Amino acid sequence: MTQQVIGPAGGSEESGPEGRAVWCEYAWLGAEGIGAAVRVGVDAEGCVSSVLPGVPAQEGDVVLHGVVFPAAANAHSHAFHRALRGRTHDRGGTFWTWRETMYAAAGALTPELYEELATAVYAEMVAAGFTSVAEFHYVHHLADGTPYGEGTGGPHAMELALARAAVRAGIRLTVLDTCYLAGGFGQPLEDGQRRFSDGTAERWLERLGALRATVAALYPEHLVSVGAALHSVRAVPERDLAVIARHLPEGLPLHIHLSEQPAENEDCLAATGLTPTGLLHRHGLVHERLSAVHATHVTGQDIGLLGNARAGVVLCPTTEADLADGLGPAGPFRLAGATLALGTDQHAVVDPWLEMRALEHGERLRTGTRGHFDPETLLDIASSGGARAQGRRGAGIRPGSVADLMAVDPHTTRTAGSTREQLAYTATAQDVRAVVVGGVLAARDGVHAALGEPAALLAAAIARLDAAVRDRTHRSAADTPTREHH
Ligand SMILES: [Zn+2]
Repeated sequence: MTQQVIGPAGGSEESGPEGRAVWCEYAWLGAEGIGAAVRVGVDAEGCVSSVLPGVPAQEGDVVLHGVVFPAAANAHSHAFHRALRGRTHDRGGTFWTWRETMYAAAGALTPELYEELATAVYAEMVAAGFTSVAEFHYVHHLADGTPYGEGTGGPHAMELALARAAVRAGIRLTVLDTCYLAGGFGQPLEDGQRRFSDGTAERWLERLGALRATVAALYPEHLVSVGAALHSVRAVPERDLAVIARHLPEGLPLHIHLSEQPAENEDCLAATGLTPTGLLHRHGLVHERLSAVHATHVTGQDIGLLGNARAGVVLCPTTEADLADGLGPAGPFRLAGATLALGTDQHAVVDPWLEMRALEHGERLRTGTRGHFDPETLLDIASSGGARAQGRRGAGIRPGSVADLMAVDPHTTRTAGSTREQLAYTATAQDVRAVVVGGVLAARDGVHAALGEPAALLAAAIARLDAAVRDRTHRSAADTPTREHH
């Protein structure tokens, strides 16, 4: 199966704001089911202006074969974790040994290395069907904790490296600038955590404000925007939570890693007498703009607090399985009123279809029954849920939605025989034949339209980061004896 752009080469990019359209052999129209021969009009802002089923393609249309769905929104990413894929399983490993390897990679990142790696990772995401990403970003400063400044790329060197990467890959980016101040309850930062920290909540808020102004001056909001994150209740002392609750700007998305591991809950209870959710609630931080990431080990009361507040819950099923986190109560969260979203987090897998499936499978394994999330709900979680977590307008095949689409081939080895309605239970990213961002073709058959093969980009970027990690290890080994003399 092939997609073609009818008309002059690159016509889709060059066609005027009035005439752009995407023609879909079949299109998922949500509650209305699947329509045939659907022509989706796209306005100058890249949003859907019209949806006409049962019409032929016109010259200049981007033509998509297969079944076209709203593209997915990735609600939780740490782009550099992609460099750890397939490397952290020696002798089994635990969450905490995985974290050691992750810190070695974090320590070696420079703005230049991160831009290259993130470009590759975002290209991989786009080819897989993600057209927006919430980047939970905490590698802010130089390795010793000194802020970047004159001569080292300016105070937002790392954040702007991510923005450039996203623009090159054509993915919509929400930089969740993350507050990270402590190594645990009552614990100072470890050496590997120094570059994550601004010292105090006040200084983090100040840098966040400056970053928002810088990004707003450089990029349109539909392409790059800034939100906020607290790394976890482990990493933000209660005194600072109170400051943030008072001074965080209105309307900003706020994300936090919440109750991913039982150890965090035990430490939080010992230090504050509350669960992590209870602690956030005490400071008025459980609200509609909050996205609780993982929320794996939660109490019934936690579920009630998050649900009543209509907060978001971002599940990362393939990561949670890879790290042996456990199974979060996805079904109860939804029943309680929380809005679910999906993230690829550490990128052991970058595949919206596998995350959707893992969500339903997790619920089946947890409860011993089938049929918790039907395909329509899964697609809504993967697309609208993720957009809401980023404070973005969602993708969809209805007027007013963002014209971000992915076309799935229903005749591959994996999908042959599936009904078009049940592709959410059989398709993978390998069956995504084309991805469209704002009505423009962004990837086809796994190859990025502007950047080429993501595999080549990833291999080159990971090799460069590996070399930097080795270099840094050698240098610190050489430093050690000197230090012992003092
Ligand atoms: Zn995470």
